[in-house]
Amino acid sequence: MAPGRERLTECDLDDALWRLLAASERDDLATFTTEHDRAADALDASAEPRWIAWRHALAARRGLADGDREAVAAGVSAARDALGRCRPCGQIGLILAYLAHIEVAADHVDAAMMLAVDASLLVETAASDGPTRVLHQAHLWLSLSLGALDLEELAVAHALQGSRVADELPEVADRWRLLQLCAQQHAELAQTLHRRGRADRAGALAGTAVDCAEAARGLDWEAEPGDQDLLDVVQAWAMAGCGEVDDAVGPMRRAHERVHRDGGIWLRGYADLALARLLTRLAQRQSGGGHDAEATDLLVDAAGAFAATGDRRRYRQCLLELGQNTAAMGRPAEALHWLEAYRADTGRAHARGRELWAEMFVRRSRLREAERQTAHLRRVALEDPLTGLGNRRSAERRLGSMRLGEEPLSLAVVDIDRFKEVNDDTSHSHGDEVLRRVADLLREHSRTGDEVYRWAGDEFLVVLPTATEGQALAAMDRLRAAVADADWGDLQLPEPVTVSIGVATAPASDDEPPGWRSLFDTADLHLFSAKRGGRNRVRAPGGRIPGEGTP
Ligand code: GH3
Ligand code: MG
Repeated sequence: MAPGRERLTECDLDDALWRLLAASERDDLATFTTEHDRAADALDASAEPRWIAWRHALAARRGLADGDREAVAAGVSAARDALGRCRPCGQIGLILAYLAHIEVAADHVDAAMMLAVDASLLVETAASDGPTRVLHQAHLWLSLSLGALDLEELAVAHALQGSRVADELPEVADRWRLLQLCAQQHAELAQTLHRRGRADRAGALAGTAVDCAEAARGLDWEAEPGDQDLLDVVQAWAMAGCGEVDDAVGPMRRAHERVHRDGGIWLRGYADLALARLLTRLAQRQSGGGHDAEATDLLVDAAGAFAATGDRRRYRQCLLELGQNTAAMGRPAEALHWLEAYRADTGRAHARGRELWAEMFVRRSRLREAERQTAHLRRVALEDPLTGLGNRRSAERRLGSMRLGEEPLSLAVVDIDRFKEVNDDTSHSHGDEVLRRVADLLREHSRTGDEVYRWAGDEFLVVLPTATEGQALAAMDRLRAAVADADWGDLQLPEPVTVSIGVATAPASDDEPPGWRSLFDTADLHLFSAKRGGRNRVRAPGGRIPGEGTP
């Protein structure tokens, strides 16, 4: 800790976290370690699992900065343990994405891949909660991690999603950063597809990269010089990808010069690589072009910079391009040297990449299957299979969640008259058909907002939120009439089907309201009264329907 710097209180932790994330992203080690020292006590003091997870994740990041591989492994593992105790949400997705990025940098490809998959699932789920800074930052780390794992299409997708989230947020800096990332990820994927001979899509992606870079420039935001330089490099490189190779040379050379004057080692490597690629394209176009030698020197420098900063993926890309360039220049021995180095490093990585891709899809589809099963179990648990209505369990659950007394609530118990005779005189399947049709009639003729459940056997429950007794009586008599007036002819029943209904109402009241069970009992009592009164009628404590059906 720098002398005299104050340590943080727990209240300041959130702000400190965002500063630490920004410093991690920019590889700003000095800021990161200073902030990390300041936050140490507050992080240690927090007993919340989420902060415990952050404490270990940041310790892992610190391990990376200090070159302490054991600290990285211990931090990641302890953070994962703490995450196991957290409720899954966007915040947890962000921590997982951050850990994935740390694992990528530590070259733990498998672990990074698994963390990225878990993070992306949580982030997708959290997306429905609306745009947040956490979500935008999680997309950013995921995009960076997936890009580094050679999953460039996914990296582009997350950059775009992050950019859409950032558009909804108030911070211009966040929008700028995501546009810069979109530009970079599009330009990189364009390069890969160009190399694979997919010129059309590569051109389109490079065009999007240029658009994103222009959009970032259009924002009212003064970015840090290093970030601005990176954007300049990306934009010039994307211009070349769009076919504007000659126009791109000037801006690229100027950006390259600035970076070499002021930039950090990784950024210098990145600018070297981009300029080398641009010169290679020029050389490919101008037969026998004279730029190959410069491009090769640049690639050697870039490979050194990426090796020094642990960017294994770009280091491998440099080896490959060195092999191709030197081969094109007619220096086969040198080409062989680079390509062998490339193959030694890449062969395993590629096979592993493909396996992990497959694994990722399997895990995703397993998750979908689990979701389907859960939905199925919910249906089985809460739905009556014969009528498709909610069953007694779901009715009880619903009633238990209602607050009585704030507004009136009415319940109606509906029972089919002499239903046993239907079963006895025709058949059980006729009985089932009667139950289905009565359910349909109740559903069809009940008011919008009222809910119909199959309570048991030939008994149904109608919940009428906000209905007074008078409204409930009128609504229930309509249901009674709908059943009595329905055409039952095709079932050849001894008698047309009718129902009896008992109603009870809890009025809006400041007094302690009765529970729903006592309301149900009252309705059931009045059902009994309706049966005794001759059936095919509706009864409630406060009255009956004038001119109701005859027995
Ligand atoms: P009441 O007018 O007094 O209600 O006479 P009821 O004959 O309808 O008497 P009750 O309501 O007690 O009879 C319910 C009958 O419903 C008894 C049972 O055999 C029959 N039942 C219950 N569940 C089903 C079912 O899923 N399908 C069929 N077909 N019958 C059922
Ligand atoms: Mg009955």
